[in-house]
Amino acid sequence: MASVKIVKNMNEIVIKSSTANRVRLKSDIFKNYQNISLIEKTLHNIVVNFRENTACKSIVLTYSSNTTLENILQKINTLFPTITQSIPASNAICGVEGGCVTCNIKSDISPITFKRKVIEFGILTAYSIYLFITENILGIVATTSPFSLVAVVAIVAAIPLLKEAYEDIQKGTFTLQTFMSGTLILAILFGEATAAFEIIYILRGGILLEEYIATKSRNEIKNLIELDIQKVYTLVDDVEIEVDIDEICIGDVVVSRSGEKIPVDGMIIEGSAEIDESLINGRSDSAFKQKDDELFAGTFCETGRVYIKVTAIGNDTYISRVMSDVEKSLALKSPAQLEADKLASKLLKLGSIMTLGTLLVSGSFLNAFSVMIIMSCPCSTILAASTAISAGIANGAKQGILIKGGEALEKISQSEVFCFDKTGTLTTGKPIIKDIVLSENIDKKTFFSYLATAEYRNSHPIATAIVEYTKKLDIYIEQDAQTEVLPGYGVKSIYKKKVIFAGNQSLFTKQKISTKEFKKQTSHHLDDGKTIVYLAVDKKLLGYITLEHEIREGTKKMISDLRAKGVKHIALVTGDEVKVANAFALDFNFDTVFANQTPHGKADAIESLKKQYKNVVMVGDGVNDTLAMSKADVAISFAAGGSDAAIEVSNIAITHSHPEDVVNLYDLSKKTLKVVNQNYWIGTSTNIIGAGFAAIGLLSPAAAGAIHIGHTTSIMANSSRLAIDNNS
Ligand code: ADP
Ligand code: MG
Repeated sequence: MASVKIVKNMNEIVIKSSTANRVRLKSDIFKNYQNISLIEKTLHNIVVNFRENTACKSIVLTYSSNTTLENILQKINTLFPTITQSIPASNAICGVEGGCVTCNIKSDISPITFKRKVIEFGILTAYSIYLFITENILGIVATTSPFSLVAVVAIVAAIPLLKEAYEDIQKGTFTLQTFMSGTLILAILFGEATAAFEIIYILRGGILLEEYIATKSRNEIKNLIELDIQKVYTLVDDVEIEVDIDEICIGDVVVSRSGEKIPVDGMIIEGSAEIDESLINGRSDSAFKQKDDELFAGTFCETGRVYIKVTAIGNDTYISRVMSDVEKSLALKSPAQLEADKLASKLLKLGSIMTLGTLLVSGSFLNAFSVMIIMSCPCSTILAASTAISAGIANGAKQGILIKGGEALEKISQSEVFCFDKTGTLTTGKPIIKDIVLSENIDKKTFFSYLATAEYRNSHPIATAIVEYTKKLDIYIEQDAQTEVLPGYGVKSIYKKKVIFAGNQSLFTKQKISTKEFKKQTSHHLDDGKTIVYLAVDKKLLGYITLEHEIREGTKKMISDLRAKGVKHIALVTGDEVKVANAFALDFNFDTVFANQTPHGKADAIESLKKQYKNVVMVGDGVNDTLAMSKADVAISFAAGGSDAAIEVSNIAITHSHPEDVVNLYDLSKKTLKVVNQNYWIGTSTNIIGAGFAAIGLLSPAAAGAIHIGHTTSIMANSSRLAIDNNS
């Protein structure tokens, strides 16, 4: 899995936000009061207002209009000579070209230059229309000598290209830019200024279109997470005060009420509310959240009021991290894009040979030029892959399928095996407690208070169901037991010197706690496909409960659709009992079952499938299956709202918990690859055929230029189908 490594200089200063005369800076040097007072002293002449927050490692400065931000940064730099540079947040955090959705400072350069490029291209278009009218309608033949107007326009329009080519020549490399610049200059020198103009016109149009598609993809992702929250209410000495969201730190308490978006990730410390979490998990019905429940930025408080202790803000929130991964992935090259680069460099060599060959064989400069012009734009080959893939990623984002990189998108439809985790992935996150069977002398209240105490801090769906059930019974739950999660087995918890075990048969066998007394009953439950959780305190069995899992709607169809579309093998990889897993697999038509697996067992299952098949996909919810996900060729986190490990390890996150999204993703992958192939075909074939015609003198340099306009536009149009079409 490709990923972008973020290397941060310990002592760099990051500009977190900057408005007229006010700036918020962040750096490790600001966590020290001595440093702060030194800065304050040094800046006191030029700074009107100085606020520090050592916990956030930040300072907020309002400065007088007779100074500049550069001046302030320079002054801080001289105080701490080890600081290497001061960088705006956008560069410091991700280096995404053209501004990044998750960074506070949007690079101003990109939108302005983009606008300028559009205007410049508009002028060039107007000029080409003028040329067309004068030549073809009015019949006035424009001069195309090296000093004609067309030549001057072409040269001016080519300045950025010529600059790049000059830099490449200085480095001693022969690139696309040098080849194109050479063609352009020669065309002008030999009196083919119209052709030169056409080359540069297409090139600029192509770059503009590519940028447009990439920006559009990025904006679509940006719209999904736009929080639009500027002001929040925070508790200071028990008083609610309104502050800028920038001022909030981890550990602060913010207040959210009915009708407001939750501005941060955090834990409820007081109050309760109905929260619409569809952004995170796609569930349409709201969830009731109360004290100690986790909340995520971007979710919506429908009714109620909650006091939230902040655990993550800004770029560090769950949704921002997922989105920034997706966004960064737009800059990463997928296999098809790397292939395109290789093909383009081959075409470049072929172009040079064909040009030279034509010149030698036909002796015609004009023919050689036409060949050169045709072959000088293998950029269409590069655009073939990159535009299709960024359009595909944007299309996915719109459907709540967040794809971190073209590589994952391409691999999905080339995968022969799909593996699914069961609990939490194919079943809803909320199992229902069905039977409660207690040993003699144990009452329900004691039983559940032990069970819920052990499960309290666990995020497993079974644990959540138990805690919720216990709360409904109004049974008090101890919250400070020492609990250890035993992945794939259950939990071990120590409370007031009592050792509690809650979990499956494997756990109890391992702990040598007999469950024989219930053997008859449990066997029936297992036949019914119910999951059994036993409870023991100090190695004494207190009873068990059974849970029934609700299977997500559309699971059966998803499996049959994937198979019909060409997936060779579909496997169930679960920690559940063999009997339960087998019944489930049979019902849902799985090819193989790996039951009773620990997280390591699940990972081994993936490894063994990888030996037999090409590309294995693992779909999991991030509970007990992240190791398996990390071993798979493509990891999809499904319904994993908030699981850190699942976000880190997955290549694709499906945020809505609809099984059909897996099929949609498969289709999107297939369609993207199809568009890439079509684009290659359009680009390469017109290049080769055109060059052939040009070599034998059937194509004038101007017509060669026109062919470029045709195929570059077709490629762009073909790719943008992916971005628009929602039912791919
Ligand atoms: P799956 O692979 O189907 O998602 P898990 O690996 O998460 O299942 O869990 C496997 C089994 O381990 C469960 O079926 C259950 O019997 C047991 N188990 C896991 N976590 C808990 C828990 N918190 N409490 C009780 N039992 C648990
Ligand atoms: Mg699971």
